[in-house]
Amino acid sequence: MSAMASTFDIIMRGGWIVTPEGLRREDLAIADGRVAARLANLAGDASQVIDASGSYVFPGFIDAHVHFNEPGRADWEGLASGSAALAAGGGTCFFDMPLNSEPPVLDAVRFHEKEALAREKAHTDFALWGGLTPANLDRLAELRDAGAIGLKAFMSESGIASFERVDEPSLRAGMQAAAQLGLIVAVHAEDNGLAARHTAEKKTAARDARAYLASRPVEVELAAIREALSLAQETGCALHIVHVSSPEGLALIADAKKRGLNVSAETCPHYLLLNEDDVVRIGAPAKCAPPIRDEARRRALWEALRAGILDTIGSDHSPAPGTMKTGDDFFAIWGGIGGVQHGFALLFSETLDSAERDWPLLSALLSRNVARRFRLGRRKGSLDVGSDADLAIVTPSEPREIAASELLTRHPISAYVGRRSRVRVTHTLVRGRAVWSDGRLVDSHLQPRLLSPQSATS
Ligand code: ZN
Repeated sequence: MSAMASTFDIIMRGGWIVTPEGLRREDLAIADGRVAARLANLAGDASQVIDASGSYVFPGFIDAHVHFNEPGRADWEGLASGSAALAAGGGTCFFDMPLNSEPPVLDAVRFHEKEALAREKAHTDFALWGGLTPANLDRLAELRDAGAIGLKAFMSESGIASFERVDEPSLRAGMQAAAQLGLIVAVHAEDNGLAARHTAEKKTAARDARAYLASRPVEVELAAIREALSLAQETGCALHIVHVSSPEGLALIADAKKRGLNVSAETCPHYLLLNEDDVVRIGAPAKCAPPIRDEARRRALWEALRAGILDTIGSDHSPAPGTMKTGDDFFAIWGGIGGVQHGFALLFSETLDSAERDWPLLSALLSRNVARRFRLGRRKGSLDVGSDADLAIVTPSEPREIAASELLTRHPISAYVGRRSRVRVTHTLVRGRAVWSDGRLVDSHLQPRLLSPQSATS
């Protein structure tokens, strides 16, 4: 026995541990990449001690919705810069969408191509969505076998020519196949016909932000959610509705759950943080679809969150070069919000004064619920002893304005530049390795892992 040997690799001392169960003042020890102990005034020593006093230790955030656009459009973001920004925001795992990488992930060859790039470049662990379009209904089994976390479909035009939207028959066929394969299907829920009709009406003289917002009213989202729920009922397929923008949409999903449907709802930080007036003020960086709603709906989303009828929060980080995010015609500007670095932390900033009530809820939505819904296994999304030591330290700080210069994304564009934040993410650890430390990106020598759905028993 060596006198030099430490009990643990890392101990975090003096922080508040935040989990869905609540806030607890405990030290947390890490050994061999796992949570080894959690106890007030933990005995033992470690090679590294992190002073977490005055800080909050969360399970790492699992962002089930990003578009890092590599391969094919790495000039829009890329796996390295996107995951660096994620890590800077407390994220320990991302699920990359099958688009806008090019060609999109519609078969196993494209899946393995992106997987290899992510293993080489990512700063965190990752999972990969496969696509579900009319063109690849015969490829869903190979996507499952390759390790896809689920299948993503667009019910309205995606804006990407190589990623066709599903009409009702192809979505039904895809969900029937997915149910057989045990895959979850995620949908972008906007009704294509209604969206086209409202767009034609509003796309007249003034092509400004207000006209764009008016061109995608809530009923566009609700019609698609109703259709997806009806197909989930018919096929028995597990359904995940991404970026729900309205409390009315969440109510439809909550009602379907009561009827026994296997369905979950995601929203995004921007729907909780921004309203229509913010879109007008911020302009192109705040353009997305479904669009950001009015203030009453924004507040109602927080009420829904507190009422427990929301399942997950994902960033839907969807960046594009600055040249595509400018112009007088708001309809023509490329949609998508860059927010992976600050979106989650701003939710904590927003609720700092009610942390005891709200942070356990946010922790569930950002970590535990994601791990459970996508069957990542017991070691993910938790700070229980034995879990992977994926965690984020959030520290309240003097209010400061988020600056474009601090963005680690490829393009210095975010809906949150100029917004005041009252917290900082000071550390992010993936399986016990610091990838973000004291507010700096660290070369962690992490070997990023592909996460796939575990069998029901594991
Ligand atoms: Zn998206």
